[in-house]
Amino acid sequence: MQNYARKIEAQSTAENLIFYPQIQQAFAFFVEANDNFTDELIRICEIPAPPFKEELRAAYIKQRFSECGLTKVHTDAEGNVIAERRGTSATPDLIVSAHLDTVFPEGTDVRVKRDGRRFLAPGIADDSCGLMSLIALAQALNVAQIETAGTIYFVATVGEEGEGNLRGVRHLFTAGEFQNGAAAFISLDGPGVERITSRALGSRRYRVTINGPGGHSWGDFGVVNPVHALGRAIARFATYAAPISPRTSYNIGLIEGGQSVNSIPESASMTVDMRSTSRDEIDKLEAYLRRVIELAVREENSQRALSGTLLTYAIDAAGDRPSGETPVASHIVQTAMECSRALGIEPRLDCSSTDSNIPISLGIPAITIGAGGTSNHCHTLAEWYDPTGRELGLKRLLLLTVALTGLSV
Ligand SMILES: [Zn+2]
Repeated sequence: MQNYARKIEAQSTAENLIFYPQIQQAFAFFVEANDNFTDELIRICEIPAPPFKEELRAAYIKQRFSECGLTKVHTDAEGNVIAERRGTSATPDLIVSAHLDTVFPEGTDVRVKRDGRRFLAPGIADDSCGLMSLIALAQALNVAQIETAGTIYFVATVGEEGEGNLRGVRHLFTAGEFQNGAAAFISLDGPGVERITSRALGSRRYRVTINGPGGHSWGDFGVVNPVHALGRAIARFATYAAPISPRTSYNIGLIEGGQSVNSIPESASMTVDMRSTSRDEIDKLEAYLRRVIELAVREENSQRALSGTLLTYAIDAAGDRPSGETPVASHIVQTAMECSRALGIEPRLDCSSTDSNIPISLGIPAITIGAGGTSNHCHTLAEWYDPTGRELGLKRLLLLTVALTGLSV
């Protein structure tokens, strides 16, 4: 007995916690309530949440947060739903979050279909399963009567996906509730149990527009042509040697311009997506983009100088996600790894673009993790989610939440 006690003492906090009866009770609840969780998942998924139109799903989550006994349940100015579960002392507080929005436009059929163990519907994994896990966490803490020292904030964010440009989480930390920071932030995004996203993949998006007077292809030949200039810019930009490490990428995903085959266009535009794990590399890439556009426009103007016409151009930001890293040695990453290992999961640190980008860029300890289960074809109409093994993800979430806020006994 003595040996056994010493052994536990020598182990990490996460491994100690597992032996507490309350934690065991919460774990048992995750198994018992499995079918209820699936019903909840389906209910969430079937409430459409297109970009910038998350209100209906937000209202449902708000109602569920209240029903789970969370307090101060409200919607902030940006549309995020926020609730809290007060701790016995003020610190260390923790934000657990998942995002409300999907990538799917209004009118998408979000009814859930079943195929064996799989549930099929757009958005079922990304991020209905994350939202469901927040509710499961609140319920488990209640069922097992777990009191934490720190306060747990439950947050459902708007605008995580593409065009949303992290508007929800950005508001939280720059103008909203947590503008003065938080001790830790966890985003539950998608399924799985191995992944711990501790590095934020930064991205910058621009829309480049080149304008000219336009004209007739024969009658006005010699007038500056925006498409010609854009073509030159693209050809140069595409030669950029992006480093493999830190991994950097770029893409011109859309080009537009012109009216007809025999008109000199009045306008030409393109959208550019640039990503890197390093802010310096994105800065370099952006500088290169600006240089090649300037050069391309200048070339077209000088080549057509006799016409007396000139091109102008504009580079408009269409999205900015900051990059950064929560250090591997930080308390949150180490605790997340310990909690994973304590449950027999071998964690894998990775780099991705998620709600954690904003807190990470502000120096707030933040990670994004999966909510358990498996899925595939996210961001497509063929998206599916299989809840098999989901309880492991929920157990890790609970363990991590309690480990970070402290079990109050
Ligand atoms: Zn997501």
